[in-house]
Formats: sequence, C-alpha cells, structure tokens
Amino acid sequence: MSNWYIGQHCVAIRNHSSGKIRKGQVYTIRSLMASKCRCGGVYIVVGVSNGAPLGECQPCGVMFNCNGIHWFAERLFAPIEEGDISELLEVLKTEKHEL
Ligand SMILES: [Zn+2]
Repeated sequence: MSNWYIGQHCVAIRNHSSGKIRKGQVYTIRSLMASKCRCGGVYIVVGVSNGAPLGECQPCGVMFNCNGIHWFAERLFAPIEEGDISELLEVLKTEKHEL
C-alpha cells in the first residue's frame, strides 16, 4: 500500500470508467479518505467533481456521502516521486508532440 499525501503528484495507471481519469495523465492529490467499505484502501480526490451527493464504491456497490466530489480508488494511480516529475512531464509532453 502506498503512503499517499495531500499535494503529492500521481499518475493514472488505468482509465476510470467515467472517462474522468485517463491513463498516463498526472494528477495532484487534493484530499484523501479511508475506504468506508469492506474493500479497504484509500480514496483519492484529484479535483474532479461528479455533482452527486452519493458516491459508489465500484467493486462492491456500497454508497457513501461524497458531497459532489469524485473520489477515486487508489488502484487507479501510482505515486510519482518528486524528483521524477519533471522528467515524467517531459516524457508526456514528448509523447503528445508525436501524436
Ligand atoms: Zn467497496
């Protein structure tokens, strides 16, 4: 399990079904919450809203109060070490140029 913290940069390693999280994109952690269901783990806020008062844990379907904020399972992300981020952003920039 990763040691997430607020302000940390992370990169998406999977696409989220909503399309709001895209693999390879870099996000900044705005808030963290321990899972309220039997799945365990941590939910992460990266500044995406969903406009709904309730969120649903995708694997188990448990609903929880999310106040219109989109919480994402930590398994969508991998942490980026601060020393690596400029290098990674450079790589992503280069990839975009090639498209
Ligand atoms: Zn769950």
